[in-house]
Amino acid sequence: MTDIKKPELNFLWEISNVLAKKTDEQELIDELKTVFHRFLCVKNFQVFMWDEFSSTLRDFVKNWIVIDKNVQSEKVIKIFELLSKNTQDNFILNGQLLDFNRAALELEYCFDSCLKQNDNIVYFPLYKDEKLHGVLELSFDEVLPNVKKYDFIFSVGIAIRQISAAIANKLMKDKMAKNIDFYKSMKNIAKLIETQYELTYILPIIGEMLDKFIADHLIYIFMKDGENYFRLVWPLECKDSKIYELLNKITEENPSEISDSTGVWAIKSENDVIGAIAAGSYIEKLSESDIDYLTLLAKQISVTVQKANSYGEMLKYATLDALTGLNNRRQFEIRLNQEVATAKRKNKPLCCIMLDIDYFKKVNDTYGHAAGDCVLKNVSGVIKHELREYDIASRYGGEEFCILLPDTTINEAEFVAQRLRKAVENTDINITEEQLAGETINVSISIGVSNYDKSVETPQQLYQNADMALYEAKRRGRNRVILYDCL
Ligand code: GH3
Ligand code: MG
Ligand code: MG
Repeated sequence: MTDIKKPELNFLWEISNVLAKKTDEQELIDELKTVFHRFLCVKNFQVFMWDEFSSTLRDFVKNWIVIDKNVQSEKVIKIFELLSKNTQDNFILNGQLLDFNRAALELEYCFDSCLKQNDNIVYFPLYKDEKLHGVLELSFDEVLPNVKKYDFIFSVGIAIRQISAAIANKLMKDKMAKNIDFYKSMKNIAKLIETQYELTYILPIIGEMLDKFIADHLIYIFMKDGENYFRLVWPLECKDSKIYELLNKITEENPSEISDSTGVWAIKSENDVIGAIAAGSYIEKLSESDIDYLTLLAKQISVTVQKANSYGEMLKYATLDALTGLNNRRQFEIRLNQEVATAKRKNKPLCCIMLDIDYFKKVNDTYGHAAGDCVLKNVSGVIKHELREYDIASRYGGEEFCILLPDTTINEAEFVAQRLRKAVENTDINITEEQLAGETINVSISIGVSNYDKSVETPQQLYQNADMALYEAKRRGRNRVILYDCL
């Protein structure tokens, strides 16, 4: 737009070009500064924004830097206070509040009366929704003659309003992007619980998620041991004594404590504080949005931890294996002790069968784990079908099963074992459900059989003997039954 003769229009044109670009905070301010320098001989160009929650002014480019009386110019804070008490069309030149329209009309007078060499600082208010939300600071060494014109100073006013709107938009966009990240984190935390219930596994994952999300602060997770002791569970170390101080203050009724740059939020079960998340930093104050996020995240983590705890608790009492519906291993151990005790007391025979699917790894490798699971369910179905009601079948491990046969002699047990082996061998396992249309597979099993007699010293020895026989069945070529007594 070289044919635009009027400098003020050129100035506005360049400003709007800068604002139309997609840039980060630093680039935006640098480019605006370049334009202001070219047209107004501006030496310094800085933007300060107001953080509502922490009631602090922050550098727009480095928003973790809080402008307070100890850190930077006390002047900016005073200026902000002064501007916030006045109406929109004011600005401040060398400490003097001026009316924009009047200043533009009586420009020469204003500038000449206010300008002193080396201390020419102007502050312009930045508004969002009619509310002061920041100030723009300009300083310059000299005032060019054409700047001292009504049109030019008026164009500066227009530029400031455009900049104000652009900054408000940018902040809004950043906030939205962060919101999206936040909801992703919340969803991930909620999702974790679908597959995992071990807190020792879950909490570090949550910690890492939070750490990425609340980038300006260090995040810690504590769980409560006993009445009052908070034990750090993530990460490995917390040297921030302020955090421990705040932890002692939180209760069920007062679930969070925030003090400048440090905050703690309770992780709650229904009625108790069971832990806490903490955020700490030595320099930055927690912002309003950080606090909102951490509050919601603490709630989400509470729900996750509660679910994990009750799921873990439930598993403690579960007796059946979730995939096959047979007894689980814990239940097997209980039943083993009971049956051995009964056999001993009543002097009744008792046998034990250990069986293992042959080349099961190949099934997984060829057809996938879902097909492998389908095979496990089918083999379990055959086992249930072939046994008597009071036989006790359990899933001992991955593809190993253990069966207790009360009141059964070794000859009868061998017969049962052979019947089982043949039934599995002859079963066509249809894995069409697993999206392998038309596929039918067959597997075989190897079996070891042992019986309880006086030489068996502990209940565990009963199945260890069966396991040794099973090992021999594998060694001899699989798909066969071996008796421990025949080893
Ligand atoms: P062998 O004839 O010597 O018993 O050979 P194998 O391949 O059956 O034995 P191995 O012990 O090497 O492999 C057992 C496999 O069972 C490995 C493991 O991935 C799989 N497995 C264990 N639990 C499950 C399960 O719940 N589902 C599925 N699909 N596979 C499982
Ligand atoms: Mg196997
Ligand atoms: Mg095995």
